[in-house]
Amino acid sequence: MSVRTRFAPSPTGRLHIGNARTALFNRLFARRHNGRFIVRIEDTDIERSSKEFEKEILGDLKWLGLDWDEGPDRDGAKGPYRQSERLSLYKSYAARLVDNKLAYNCFCTKERLEALKKDQIAKGLPPRYDGRCRNITSSDAPSGMTPVIRFRVPEREIRFTDGVHGGMSFDARAFGDFVIIGSDFVASYNFAVVIDDALMEITHVIRGDDHLSNTPRQILLFDALGFPAPSFSHIPLVLGTNKLPLSKRERNASVGELRDAGYLPVGIVNAIARLGWSPEEGLLGLDELSSDFALENLSNSPAVFDIERLKSFNREAIKKMEETAIFASLGLDGDELFMEAVLDIRGNASTLSELKDIIGYVTGGIEYDEDALVALSEPHAKAVLRAFCEEAERFDLLDGTAYNRIIGEVKKRTGEKGPRLFHPIRYALTGKKEGIEIVNILKLIGWIEALKRIKRFL
Ligand code: GLU
Repeated sequence: MSVRTRFAPSPTGRLHIGNARTALFNRLFARRHNGRFIVRIEDTDIERSSKEFEKEILGDLKWLGLDWDEGPDRDGAKGPYRQSERLSLYKSYAARLVDNKLAYNCFCTKERLEALKKDQIAKGLPPRYDGRCRNITSSDAPSGMTPVIRFRVPEREIRFTDGVHGGMSFDARAFGDFVIIGSDFVASYNFAVVIDDALMEITHVIRGDDHLSNTPRQILLFDALGFPAPSFSHIPLVLGTNKLPLSKRERNASVGELRDAGYLPVGIVNAIARLGWSPEEGLLGLDELSSDFALENLSNSPAVFDIERLKSFNREAIKKMEETAIFASLGLDGDELFMEAVLDIRGNASTLSELKDIIGYVTGGIEYDEDALVALSEPHAKAVLRAFCEEAERFDLLDGTAYNRIIGEVKKRTGEKGPRLFHPIRYALTGKKEGIEIVNILKLIGWIEALKRIKRFL
């Protein structure tokens, strides 16, 4: 049987880090086993789902390089791949369960269910449906009322082996008969997922730990419907550095925000691959990651998403980026020396936006604060700047070789070195004491501008 995995996002928000990691692991596993990776949109929650989120999630997955073999826009003969287009399928399977007495119509009112729940809680019992409509016949059914359909939960233990957590067991008696089709005729999450995973012939379900408690209910449904259950693997939650679950509201918790902040797909993929898994070190491509991927190597304890780790992968990714791609993505154009400097300073930036900022603060209008003005008024600073100008004027081109010769001469002439030599020059050129190498500042702003900035202090 060939492997089929799926990623099943609900389009009720942006694609956040935890879900992107789920998508990645599903795709890596499918590739590792020459299987197929399917994307299914779980949009039965009509009020909270939106087409915009669906479009953005699919766009983000593609941008990350996590393309799929079957999905809403790519037919694989097991569609449709949007739950809102499958409602009649769910209804027909629910009707089959009712016919077989494995599910039943329930006419209990909301008020009754609420009172029941209150009463159970007051008695210290876990709230669950009491089965009042279990044996209702059609003649007992109140007229004019749309029932929900409840699954008749068998009294048994459910055991399965989770790919990450190992042996699991649950007692179904704790569940109560749960709703599979609501009074609005829409399938519940657990029911729709089972029909879809069965009909789409999903062999391996890899999803977040937050779904672990749904799995025994889903296994009961697979059994009742006569479908083989897939194997299940629940991957640990993603926490922020504060050790709390990474919330959707947090900054930089979604792929879209990271993209806007200048992170590259390969940087993000490498960072999220390390959430609960430890592949080889270094920046790896999707093929390398998938050849190494194994469910049994996933960790079963929560993973921490550390933006610093992402930054370091991203820095590596920027270093490996094609030159033309860097210039194009930053909208840059300049002479050869300018481009040379951009390539040279990219290691200082952990995102493309940061790289743009560094270039901007060097080439843009500069301001000299009090500290800069004081430093630049010192006699040794003036001597350095004067010598620098005089030496620089001997060269037509301010490239690396010229720069080294100029600095050598300035050193000799003024007797200054270290910070007393370099700080005045960098202060005069940028208004700041620290920053990128002076030779790159010169390449970025050019010869004429450099001398203009320095002469201001002579
Ligand atoms: N739609 C569910 C979610 O976004 C995923 C369900 C599943 O993977 O079974 O959490």
